[in-house]
Amino acid sequence: GQAAFRSDLTRLLELVGTGKESLIFMKKRIRHLAQQWLRAARRLEQKLKGRQRDQKHILIHIGFLTEESGDVFSPRVLKGGPLGEMVQWADILTALFLLGHSLRVTVSLKELQSNLGVPPGRGNCPLTIPLPFDLIYTDYHGLQQMKQHMGLSFKKYSCRVRVIDTFGTEPAYNHEEYATLRGYRTNWGYWNLQPTQFMTMFPHTPDNSFMGFVSEELNRTERQFIKSNKVSNMAVVYGKEASIWKVGGKEKFLAILNKYMEIHGTVYYETQRPPEVPAFVKNHGLLPQHEFQQLLRKAKLFIGFGFPYEGPAPLEAIANGCVFLQARFNPPHSSLNHEFFRGKPTSREVSSQHPYAEDFIGKPHVWTVDYNNSEEFEAAIKAIMRSQVDPYLPYEYTCEGMLERIHAYIQHQDFCGTPSPPVAKSPAMQSPRSPLALAPNATHLVWSPEAGWGGGGSTWPPARSLQVWVSEGRHTCTETCQRRGLVCEPTFFRFLNKKEVFLQLSITCDSTEYEMNHLYPAVAENVHECYLQKEPLLFSCAGYNTKYRRLCPCRDYRKGQVALCRDCL
Ligand code: UDP
Repeated sequence: GQAAFRSDLTRLLELVGTGKESLIFMKKRIRHLAQQWLRAARRLEQKLKGRQRDQKHILIHIGFLTEESGDVFSPRVLKGGPLGEMVQWADILTALFLLGHSLRVTVSLKELQSNLGVPPGRGNCPLTIPLPFDLIYTDYHGLQQMKQHMGLSFKKYSCRVRVIDTFGTEPAYNHEEYATLRGYRTNWGYWNLQPTQFMTMFPHTPDNSFMGFVSEELNRTERQFIKSNKVSNMAVVYGKEASIWKVGGKEKFLAILNKYMEIHGTVYYETQRPPEVPAFVKNHGLLPQHEFQQLLRKAKLFIGFGFPYEGPAPLEAIANGCVFLQARFNPPHSSLNHEFFRGKPTSREVSSQHPYAEDFIGKPHVWTVDYNNSEEFEAAIKAIMRSQVDPYLPYEYTCEGMLERIHAYIQHQDFCGTPSPPVAKSPAMQSPRSPLALAPNATHLVWSPEAGWGGGGSTWPPARSLQVWVSEGRHTCTETCQRRGLVCEPTFFRFLNKKEVFLQLSITCDSTEYEMNHLYPAVAENVHECYLQKEPLLFSCAGYNTKYRRLCPCRDYRKGQVALCRDCL
C-alpha cells in the first residue's frame, strides 16, 4: 500500500521497548526532538505532494544492543560511554516511522528469530523461509546473527539488508576473495554486499550510502537569543571519558587555553573528581543530552583533544553557535597507524578529529590547527574569542534533510531487482557504445543524452549528473571529484568501464586488460597500459596508487545534501 506520513510518535515509543539504559536514552531523545521531527515531516510531505510512495515492511535489528553480542554499550550510557550510535539509531527509527513504514524493532536474538520466522531451537535452519520484510536495517553484529540463524535464506535475502556502519566499509575490504588475496584484513568480516548497502554516520565514504543523524534545530528567535548571550571566554571540552584528558602534550595547549578562557568539561565521574582532569577545569559530570545542549548555548568554544573521532557532539556545538576547534592530524590517522582504526574495513586517512567539520563546514565555525604549534594555537583562540558566529546546521543534519535522504534511498535503492548492465567479462566481449561525450573544454567527459544507450532513465542517481574526470596518481576518486566541487558516485563506474572511454579521453592504450583491482578502470600512463574492472563489486571511490591515473565517476550534489544529486529526489 501507499505510505502515509505519520503525525504522532506515541506508537514508535511503544515499539522501541524498554528496560535497557540505551533504550531509555533513545526514547528520551525521540521525545525531546518530537516537535521538530513532526514539523519536518509536514514540510517534506508538502514537498513530495502526491508522489507515490510504497509502504515497506521493515525490520530494525540493533545488533550491538543484544546480550548475545555482549551489549557493552547499554551499561555505559550513564558512565560516559559512546552515545553516537544510539543517537543515530533513535533518529533512523524516527525517520522510518514518520515516513509511514511498518516497523518491527528487535534488540535480542530471541526477538530476531521470532520475527524472521525461525523456529526456536533451530539455530541453523537449512531451509529457505519466506522473509516477511522488504528491508532490514541492522549493524555488523546483527548481520552476523542473521547469517547464523537464517540458513540459506541469508544469502537469498541479503540484498534487503542495510548495514549501519559508522566509519564505513570500502569495496576492497568487502569482497571476500579480493580482500583475502590482497591482505585487506578486518575484524568485521567480508560480506560481499553492494558497498552502498553500508550506511555511514558522516558522508566520508562515497562508496557507502550516507545515513547520518540529526541535531537540534533553532528558530530565528532562539538563534538571536543564543548569539547575544554567548560568554566569549567560555570553552567546553569535547569528550565524556576521563581518558581523553590523557593525551600527550596537552599541558602546553591547555595552559594557553586557560590563560584566555574558563574551561568546562562534561567528564563522567562516580564519586570523586577524575584525577586526569586538572583542577582549573569546571567539570559538570556527564550531563543529560538536553542539559549538555544548554551548556553549549552559552559557550563560545567547543574544543577537541583528538578523541573521540567523528561523533555528533561537534555538530551540536556548531548548531548552538559554538566555534569548534580541533587538532590537525599530521600524519593523518588510519588503520595503518592508529589502534582505534586498526582492523576497521577502511583505508581512510583521517586528517583531524572531525573531518566532516573540517571539510564540509570549515571557518568561521570550525578551526583545524596544529596543537603543537603554540603560536598558531594561541592565535586561533584569540581570533575565535573576537569572532561573531551564527549557529549553523547543514541541511543534511536537519530532520527534513534526513527524512528526504532516507525517503530517496527507500524509493530508489534496489539491490534485489534487475541486475545492472553486465560488465564485459573479457576484452573479446562486445561492450555497448559509450554514453559519454567530451565536455566542451575538452578535459573530461559528460553524460551524452544523444548516445541513446540504456540506463539513462532507469538508473539512480540519474546518469545525466555524471562527469568523468581522470585522477592524479596521488588522488583517490573521492578526492578527485571533491576537488571539482563534485562527489564520487560509484553507481556510475559501469558507464565508464569501457575501452572507448579511454579513447574519448585521448588516452593511448597499447594494451587493455580486464582485471580484479579496486583501482580500475585506470591507466598506467608511462607504459600506455589500460585496465578495466572485471568485478563490479570492486568499483571503488577509495584508493590510489601513484602508478595509475584512475577514471573517476563524479556527480553534482545539492548544497547541504551531498547524498542527492540536483535532480535526484
Ligand atoms: N552528550 C551528552 N552528555 C554530555 C556530553 C555529550 O548527552 O555530557 C551527548 C551529545 O549530545 C551527543 C552524544 O553525547 O549527541 C554523543 O556524542 P559524541 O560526539 O561524544 O560521540 P560518541 O563518542 O559518544 O559516539
